[in-house]
Amino acid sequence: MPSAALEQLQHVFGYDSFRGEQAQIVEQVVAGGDALVLMPTGGGKSLCYQLPALLRDGTGIVVSPLIALMQDQVEALRQLGVRAAFLNSSLDAGAAAQVERQLLEGELDLLYVAPERLLTSRFLSLLERTRIALFAIDEAHCVSQWGHDFRPEYRQLTLLHERWPQVPRIALTATADAPTRREIVERLALEDARQFVSSFDRPNIRYTVVAKDDSRRQLLEFLDEHRGNSGIVYCLSRRKVDATAALLAERGLRALPYHAGLDAQTRAEHQRRFLREEGIVMVATIAFGMGIDKPDVRFVAHLDLPKSLEGYYQETGRAGRDGEPSEAWLAYGLGDAVLLRRMIEDGDAGDERKWLERGKLDALIGYCESTACRRQSLLAYFGEAHGGACGNCDNCLQPPQTWDASEAARKALSCVYRTGQRFGAAHVIDVLRGADTAKVRQFGHQSVSTYGIGGELDAKQWRGVFRQLVAAGLLDADIEGHGALRLTASATPLLRGGQTLQLRAEPPKRERARKPAEP
Ligand code: ADP
Ligand code: ZN
Repeated sequence: MPSAALEQLQHVFGYDSFRGEQAQIVEQVVAGGDALVLMPTGGGKSLCYQLPALLRDGTGIVVSPLIALMQDQVEALRQLGVRAAFLNSSLDAGAAAQVERQLLEGELDLLYVAPERLLTSRFLSLLERTRIALFAIDEAHCVSQWGHDFRPEYRQLTLLHERWPQVPRIALTATADAPTRREIVERLALEDARQFVSSFDRPNIRYTVVAKDDSRRQLLEFLDEHRGNSGIVYCLSRRKVDATAALLAERGLRALPYHAGLDAQTRAEHQRRFLREEGIVMVATIAFGMGIDKPDVRFVAHLDLPKSLEGYYQETGRAGRDGEPSEAWLAYGLGDAVLLRRMIEDGDAGDERKWLERGKLDALIGYCESTACRRQSLLAYFGEAHGGACGNCDNCLQPPQTWDASEAARKALSCVYRTGQRFGAAHVIDVLRGADTAKVRQFGHQSVSTYGIGGELDAKQWRGVFRQLVAAGLLDADIEGHGALRLTASATPLLRGGQTLQLRAEPPKRERARKPAEP
């Protein structure tokens, strides 16, 4: 490693040593080569372009999609004495003109710029007259239309390479599944870039998935173990964010809502409080989080299923950047899978995209239902092998029991069939358990042959059976029919008796620290 890099690392940034592959990445870019950097959130990506920008002649141009993020980074760099600035829509004309002048005068080490600004002919002509050290493309997965952060302007960034072929480019992202990676390489013309793929393992994060039962109570119990900690609770809808934040506040937690329906000022204020104060629980939609660099987030809880495992990993990656023990907790129920499927089917995406989204949802549901080590499953999804079980996830700590559910599954499937494949799990369970409800009477379901044949399991256990049958693809939820369950072709072998089925037993209540006995 050139000693100049280490010297700058220590004197400018105040770090003793490089982390992970930072040294090799810096070396590659300083030497003028392209790089694609895949590193988990909190891994230290910024340094990989900041340091080369200081070591090379000219200004490093950083493309970044988020205004808030740019401001934070520039602020932090200035405090280190680095000559950094940003150009985006938050600057008035006078301030922007001054930054442009500094750029032309060669007075900037780093310039952060929003992609739409970078692509203007005005800015490109400025660049023609500038000495450019490198191009850094941050959050490079924004080029992928399959992710939820798609930014169409990212597609045009290949023109940087076309106009300045001799300037090294470094693209960085924390989203690393193979299809996204391939798309980044292709869309940004990075075929010749050296790829640096860090381990995505975050050993200090403990992963837990709970089957939804009474999700409000389950969340409150989980939060009880984290009194005074900062954390994030993700919900799917704005309405649920508001309701959950209100519930938590009522229970004396310092909870704040965050979603795109709040005005910009409230959002900024809540974000600021989350970053500056201790023990704030941010209840948010996924509108919150990208670029949030708070080291001591102790937990990330999901009250609804995220859209994909990549999304999940990125969202949970916001926990524990300081390396201290942290938790990723996810509550999952049959309703979530049904709802997300409906959102995919009802969406106006094309067939190809729907197909892709269905695949991603299946992977996520598979993760939730898995009895294997969660960390191994997650890392395997990102193409990384993890030697042995991790010892720090729910399945490792409390290995789930499995049971031969063949008979129960047959009963469940028959009952769906006998009631006409027109009902959701709750009603079918009532029929199986021989309940006397208005709906049972209305449809005359006391007289179907499967009425009352399922007394051996309680309603919660039956919900587990149905959830897993849907997850395994033996049942599917009819989107038009408001989640009515239907048999799929895969159910046939089991119904005929030619197949057995092992299912995960519903786990006992989460073990909690026992209070010391009263004296
Ligand atoms: P990312 O962009 O990958 O999420 P950052 O670049 O924001 O991560 O870095 C995450 C944290 O790690 C920051 O607080 C940063 O100061 C710290 N960091 C980065 N590199 C080093 C290093 N070599 N030594 C110590 N701390 C580092
Ligand atoms: Zn594990």
